[in-house]
Amino acid sequence: MNADPKGQTAEFIILGSGGSTGVPAIGNIWGKCDPNNPKNLRSRTSALIKYNDMNFIIDTGPDFKHQANAHNLTNINGVIYTHDHGDHTNGIDELRVYKNRQGHNIPVYGTDETLGSIESRHGHMFESRSEFYSKVVDKNILTAKDMKQKFEIASGLYITPFEMQHGHIMSTGYRIGDLAYCVDMSYIPDESIEALKGIKTLILDSAGYQFPESRQHANLEYIKELQDRIQPEQTVLTVLSVIMDYEDVKAHAPQGAIPAYDGFKTIITL
Ligand SMILES: [Zn+2]
Repeated sequence: MNADPKGQTAEFIILGSGGSTGVPAIGNIWGKCDPNNPKNLRSRTSALIKYNDMNFIIDTGPDFKHQANAHNLTNINGVIYTHDHGDHTNGIDELRVYKNRQGHNIPVYGTDETLGSIESRHGHMFESRSEFYSKVVDKNILTAKDMKQKFEIASGLYITPFEMQHGHIMSTGYRIGDLAYCVDMSYIPDESIEALKGIKTLILDSAGYQFPESRQHANLEYIKELQDRIQPEQTVLTVLSVIMDYEDVKAHAPQGAIPAYDGFKTIITL
């Protein structure tokens, strides 16, 4: 581990690029996606920050175990939550394997609203209920004061949380070095956009891409507005549904934007 963050890099990997149903949806529903293109095989939304020998996960959806095995994640150093919708959190039980193997609780990060909601549905992960089912996670609550402030999640690795609107709830976006991860969201407030100036990679919830009326997720018009305001070098569209074929989105995406796929990697400069 290097204590000097200057010049350090981390690897950012999209573990899952799918919407709430994944692709294919149950019933082998591929919608408009070409089943012969492996980039259309999408697990539920999640991401990994690899830093030195450490792994930090953003969201543990229902496909988390398969994602962890696909990337041979033998250890996890922390989980950062964006919001408590089941497609982002329902895989939290898998963290017990890591707790037992590593011999300590797994730190989880998120707002009081998010972690409180997860705890209300998965209380057995947050408190010991018997000798065999002990507490698995330790809460690290991000308060309103923590928004737009960097915190050091590991020596030399800083993360800046910021507020976003996601339909009728608030979600949390995260800036890590020159990358920002904005999932799920329908709107990013001006003060949060300020915190994103100078980034190279902008990863955006695009579940509303083909739904101009969407109130839960960013639509195409808003994606373009965010690109204009933030001016990233690359925009990566994620949270992709069965109606968003990889090649079709790639051919018609706004300039500078590309669709994500499971296993997409980019380097973050910290
Ligand atoms: Zn959501």
